[in-house]
Amino acid sequence: MIPLARPVIGEREEELVLEALRSGWLSLGPMLGRFETDFAANLGVPAVSAVSSGTAALHLSLRASGVEAGDEVVTTPFSFVASSNSILYERARPVFADIDRRTLNVDPAAAAAAVTERTTGLLPVHIFGFPADMPALEELAERRKLWIVEDACEGLGGRHRDGPAIGARGNLSTFAFYANKQMTTGEGGVVVCPTGEVKARIDSERNQGRAPDMGWLDHDRLGFNYRLSDIACALGIAQLERLADMLAGRARVARLYREALAGIDGLTLPCEDEGGDERGWFVFVVQLPDGVDRDAAIEGMRDRGVDAKPYLPAIHLMSFYRERFGHREGEFPVCEEIAATSMALPFHPELTEGEVAQVGSALTAVVS
Ligand SMILES: *Cc1c(COP(=O)(O)O)cnc(C)c1O
Repeated sequence: MIPLARPVIGEREEELVLEALRSGWLSLGPMLGRFETDFAANLGVPAVSAVSSGTAALHLSLRASGVEAGDEVVTTPFSFVASSNSILYERARPVFADIDRRTLNVDPAAAAAAVTERTTGLLPVHIFGFPADMPALEELAERRKLWIVEDACEGLGGRHRDGPAIGARGNLSTFAFYANKQMTTGEGGVVVCPTGEVKARIDSERNQGRAPDMGWLDHDRLGFNYRLSDIACALGIAQLERLADMLAGRARVARLYREALAGIDGLTLPCEDEGGDERGWFVFVVQLPDGVDRDAAIEGMRDRGVDAKPYLPAIHLMSFYRERFGHREGEFPVCEEIAATSMALPFHPELTEGEVAQVGSALTAVVS
């Protein structure tokens, strides 16, 4: 079976993880600062704070934004559920706005229409690595006095039409390093911190609210255990060394897919880069032609030795969100249509031409 994702792990990862193990510093040791410095330099931002997951990064970013219980936060229903769940952790309310059919990111006009007197912030997601329309969302935030937290957990390697890399615009933003992401630490994430003050706060909150000098008894604020171990950071340092190659590998596989799938009538491929917006390749998700049963198509792919999965389900239609907020079908028609017809194909930097060809013939067979 061709798997959906596979991390690239080599001798350098083994070497640095072993170095961490042998150093005796398994957490809050030298690998942590080194990973943060390397990641920040790679992205071109002054500072990041490494944490235990992308979800933890979202949670701490939201706290740093000043969100309060009862606030409304405008976000996208077409995302991994963590972006919306993190809003609930602070007892704020995710208010969804429908997505743009081409980019699959939140539609700035829909976001503007969703803002009410109770809205305090925006949480856009760069879905599938394609940059959300931040110039338009920042203009909305400016006009309505809203904070912004960017979920860049799928966006590593992407770039906005007005210049900055995804996650490097000066907003609070988050990256994630689960094993299927552009780079991995096993589990892990970072918060991009706009100021030293924010970094100090997040460094403290990830470590039970401890004061920066690590005084044993001085916990001067509420905190969490969202630390990233030195073992994970060592893995991350090695992954950053090969990040450019891994991103190039993903872009290569995406080009191969475009060629292999070009002949399938009615199939919608991931949108092309346009107007200076550049995707950081995370997944290769296609929308099936009208009339093709998506779940049967996935079964058919698996019968042909190719893993595939429905990707992504609409958040507002998940049972927890339906029950908690009374959401129903028809609220966000673009999101719902795309969620019902989309399928993720195997995608990682080392996928071979032969494997891409096998995926292509499996897909051709199941849609015809
Ligand atoms: C991966 C991801 C996250 C964070 O995931 P973790 O598993 O907590 O690291 C958040 N948002 C999106 C859109 C993601 O794809």
